[in-house]
Amino acid sequence: MSAGVNIASKETQREAERLFKILGGLTDFKKGTKYDMAFCLSAASITLEINRLKKQKNAVILAHYYSAPDIVYAVADYRGDSYALSKTAAKVMENIIIFSGVYFMAETAKIINPRKRVFLPAVFAGCSLADSISAAQVKELRVKYPLADFICYINSTAEVKAECDVCVTSANVYDIVAGSKAKQIVFLPDVFMADNIRVEMLKRGIDKEIFSFGGTCCVHDKYAAQDVNAIRSKYPQAKVVCHPECALPVCQLCDYVGSTGGMLKYVRESSARQFAVLSEDGIINCMEYENPSKQFPRVSRTCAQMKRNNLHNILAALRNLPHEAEVKVEDAAAKGAKKAIDKMFERGA
Ligand code: SF4
Repeated sequence: MSAGVNIASKETQREAERLFKILGGLTDFKKGTKYDMAFCLSAASITLEINRLKKQKNAVILAHYYSAPDIVYAVADYRGDSYALSKTAAKVMENIIIFSGVYFMAETAKIINPRKRVFLPAVFAGCSLADSISAAQVKELRVKYPLADFICYINSTAEVKAECDVCVTSANVYDIVAGSKAKQIVFLPDVFMADNIRVEMLKRGIDKEIFSFGGTCCVHDKYAAQDVNAIRSKYPQAKVVCHPECALPVCQLCDYVGSTGGMLKYVRESSARQFAVLSEDGIINCMEYENPSKQFPRVSRTCAQMKRNNLHNILAALRNLPHEAEVKVEDAAAKGAKKAIDKMFERGA
């Protein structure tokens, strides 16, 4: 018995050391300090059990970059932004997908790969964008703009996707709008991203009328132009980077504006040493992980819904496959949404 305990504790110790190698240089935004060995020791038995159960249950974990790094780098099999994860979801061979993200992401994985069982550990985690417009409102807009191409951001419900012609992510939105045969575009549901689309089409010399309805991301919409000016005064060496879910005046003051994957690439390839990133905390952890010698003064914010995913509820989801965490999509909505998602891969992938 005592030998068994020793073996277990050695295994836990080794796992804690593995975790510390991964997490040691990253910021624990809950505490405002770097992850320490005490955290790794407390997480080790859980990550061991998650990684063991994944094999036993033929399951795979997909984690959005905005998840905490103990998920993204210690237990996830695939990590990415919405675009990368939607492509990954199509290829997954395992029977069970555990999705560390918010509801529309897990729902998209289920729509793309309907024969798999998909679980969202943070049950019904929402998104201010996806919740900002309903399918009934889209139907009304269809009547008002009968000639328009209806383009919806992936941050939308299956029912809204089903009412639209094509779905996009921040990685392919400009090319898909530019390639649309229609002059009129109704873009849903991010009104700030629609402003950015208008500007990008003008830059490309493409004549489009862009109409937008819906809401904003409650993380990115908090930044104002004066924040960028204050950041530039405080960190004059820093490159200022943001996501196109930020308001247009913010984007216009930044050195780089791009999708989550785009921002990571920009930081990776830039010769600058310091970056002020106006986005979600999780992306900073990914940047810290990829660029240990670069600096990231904190200007990021927390998406509370994304951060509802944690090692404990991932373990519970894997262990119990709970009914309330399993994603179900009604057939008609799934079929319609799949068409819009497939169109995205045809037009933009
Ligand atoms: S960061 Fe914004 S867009 Fe992403 S899940 Fe949170 S609220 Fe939605």
